[in-house]
Amino acid sequence: MHCGMCLPTCPTYDATKLERHSPRGRIALMRSIADGELEATRTFGEEMYFCLGCLACMTACPAGVNYAELFEHARAEVEESGVLHSPRRSVIRGLTVKWLFMEHPRLTAVGRAMRLYQELGGQALVRGSGILRLLPKRLRELEAMTPPVCRKFSNELIARVIPAQGERRARVALLTGCAQDLLFSDVNLDTAEVLVRNGCEVHTPPDQPCCGSLHAHNGEWTLAQQLARRMIDLLPPESFDAIISNAGGCGSHLKHYSKLLADDAAYAARARLWDAKVKDIHEYLIGLGIRPPAASSAPGLRVTYHESCHLSHGQKVVVQPRQVLRAIPGVELVELPESSWCCGSAGIYNLTQPEMAGQLLDRKVGHIRATGVGVVATGNPGCLLQLINGCRAAGVPVRVAHPITLLAEAYRSDGRCAAGEPA
Ligand code: SF4
Repeated sequence: MHCGMCLPTCPTYDATKLERHSPRGRIALMRSIADGELEATRTFGEEMYFCLGCLACMTACPAGVNYAELFEHARAEVEESGVLHSPRRSVIRGLTVKWLFMEHPRLTAVGRAMRLYQELGGQALVRGSGILRLLPKRLRELEAMTPPVCRKFSNELIARVIPAQGERRARVALLTGCAQDLLFSDVNLDTAEVLVRNGCEVHTPPDQPCCGSLHAHNGEWTLAQQLARRMIDLLPPESFDAIISNAGGCGSHLKHYSKLLADDAAYAARARLWDAKVKDIHEYLIGLGIRPPAASSAPGLRVTYHESCHLSHGQKVVVQPRQVLRAIPGVELVELPESSWCCGSAGIYNLTQPEMAGQLLDRKVGHIRATGVGVVATGNPGCLLQLINGCRAAGVPVRVAHPITLLAEAYRSDGRCAAGEPA
């Protein structure tokens, strides 16, 4: 159709005004390769990795073009063709996407080592020694973005099965994620508590595999299929009323296992059932009928809300996080200009495309600063980290929190459980 309605919503087009950096330009490139008019080249590969994968274009498209699927297949084509191949790139992808994120115990082992390095003062020592000045500029920037690793991971915080408080309304499984587990396990604990207080029996198996979003978005289709099968085996969709994600990026991918496993006779039907059961935590609470807290943990709290791209554009979960925030007594929700505009995190985009990611972060932080609020809420670990780093670096005095954390704090402050009896 080529109408161009997507162009003004595309952050990379908006920043460059170059057609090739727009959804329409990228689709034209993909089409030329699909039709055999063009070969996949390094330029094509770079273009597909300059795209954020934010899916804002999909929301804007009047023709319903499924850019998400085109984008993932295009990246898989880039990897298959090897046009971006270099020994350094292969080592980094081999160590991370193909090894570290394939087995959760590997991730937690690295997490524990990082935690020790931070807790025993190793990081402070290295930073204070000046030795980092010997590193190339890009590595120094990456080191500065290293987030604090949680003291405890989800399987140390959350019991495998927690009974519902009051009458049981549902039996749900809670997904703990990868970055979410290492960097924001407290958000997983908050999510489990909020579900329990809303009458859910919560099942949280330890050592859950990666959902495969990182793999599918970086052209590792076969690995993404493997992880999808493992996830379905670990959390059989037949056994739960719902499967809960609190990470916008993962949740979007988790709702498309039926696409990944469409040709897999053993898993296709279960994958369709899986997709139907996966819910974002905000979407699920509002659908179930949220039990509002009776008291506020911080009366008069002014909160603004940044929409994670894959929660709003990928999962179309837009009003529910706002309804959850408004259900907290004493919270005043202040709308954020360009709330669904990408913050520059976009999975690992802020590591691979620092300049573009930095521009988007500055734009977002500028809007946050202008609201004058005390708290910015967002429902995705990548965005949480990006906004924490961005607001700190810009000296914007805000707390960055997941909406479910604010809800859990309000529940804790009312001193009674959802059913009204003393906790
Ligand atoms: S996914 Fe985002 S960055 Fe990529 S073409 Fe669409 S709007 Fe642009």
